[in-house]
Order: sequence, then C-alpha cells, then structure tokens
Amino acid sequence: MNKSKQRLSETELQKLATQFRESYMYPRKTHPSKNKGTAECPVCHEQSYGVIETRSLKDQTRRRRRYCHSCHYRATTYEITADQYQEYSRVKEIWDSLKMEMNTLETVINNFKRLGEIQ
Ligand SMILES: [Zn+2]
Repeated sequence: MNKSKQRLSETELQKLATQFRESYMYPRKTHPSKNKGTAECPVCHEQSYGVIETRSLKDQTRRRRRYCHSCHYRATTYEITADQYQEYSRVKEIWDSLKMEMNTLETVINNFKRLGEIQ
C-alpha cells in the first residue's frame, strides 16, 4: 500500500470543504502577509479581519460587512455622520432616562400591591 495515498477523515474533508467554500465566497483582496486592508480580528486577534462588502445606504449611511479569514467571524458595521451620531446619542439619553423612570414606577406599583396583600 502506498503511504502517501492515505484517506482523509470525514472531519478533515469537512474542514477543507468549508475552507474552499469560504475562500470562494469571500476571496482575499490582498495577500495575507502584506496585511493591507485588514485589521485585527476582535475574536482571534489575527491580522486577517477585512471588509468584504461596502454598501452606501440612504442618509449618507454606509454599511460594511467584515469577515475574518482566520476564524471566519463575521460582523456588520455602519458608518454614520457626526450629526446622525449626535441625534442617536440624544435619543439614547432620553430612552435610558425613560427606562429608569419606568423601573422606579414599577417598583412603586409593586410595593403598593404588596401592601394591599398584607392588609
Ligand atoms: Zn478571527
């Protein structure tokens, strides 16, 4: 028997198939050793986290799909203008204070209910 003609295991075959599929779907735009256009992956910390798709949306918003060529982690990020960010911060502030007030109100209502149960 020829030793070099060893059969690959099911797991090895699946791994190779996944690698092939991923490289076909998300081809590397740059050579991995050059690190051009790639950033550090937030999961595996390899310098292989790059943008695979950029789409301009309405309101000057830009959506980017990011992909790690090492661990296959995927995420979507949005680029918004400073004005949009200010608006977001303002709305979030209002929302957070409303949530706090709702919690306080809920506590008060629950205390009244408990008092009613005791008497
Ligand atoms: Zn990664």
